[in-house]
Amino acid sequence: MEISHIEHIGIAVPNLEEAIKYYENVLGLKCYKQEVVEDQKVTTAFFKAGDTKIELLEATSPDSTIAKFIEKNGGRGGMHHIAFAIEDGVANALKECEDKGVRLIDKAPRKGADGLQIAFLHPKSTEAVLTELCENPDK
Ligand code: ZN
Repeated sequence: MEISHIEHIGIAVPNLEEAIKYYENVLGLKCYKQEVVEDQKVTTAFFKAGDTKIELLEATSPDSTIAKFIEKNGGRGGMHHIAFAIEDGVANALKECEDKGVRLIDKAPRKGADGLQIAFLHPKSTEAVLTELCENPDK
């Protein structure tokens, strides 16, 4: 697979409004989009830091993976996943990962936030960091 850059860093937050204040008022980044992703049961907020985005994730339901992550983390948020931009396509990358014995969370690309096609690799196969592969279908 061909990775062009870190597309975004996903950060779980217990309170999206509070978290946005920090990113805007302290770091001086601008939240350019908020989006509910129904099938992941999250509300996301996006910032740009150069070519890399920051994706804040707040659970919309107690059975969201983000809610479980925060619960395990003692009620605090924290870094949740790293997402790479894949130049030659997420489907190709998934096939390559599967051939190399990597455990996949998603067997095929699906629609993620911010118009991307995405798939997750299991942290058991990725040195314990939840890893997302992304491609921008409009590019
Ligand atoms: Zn993400």
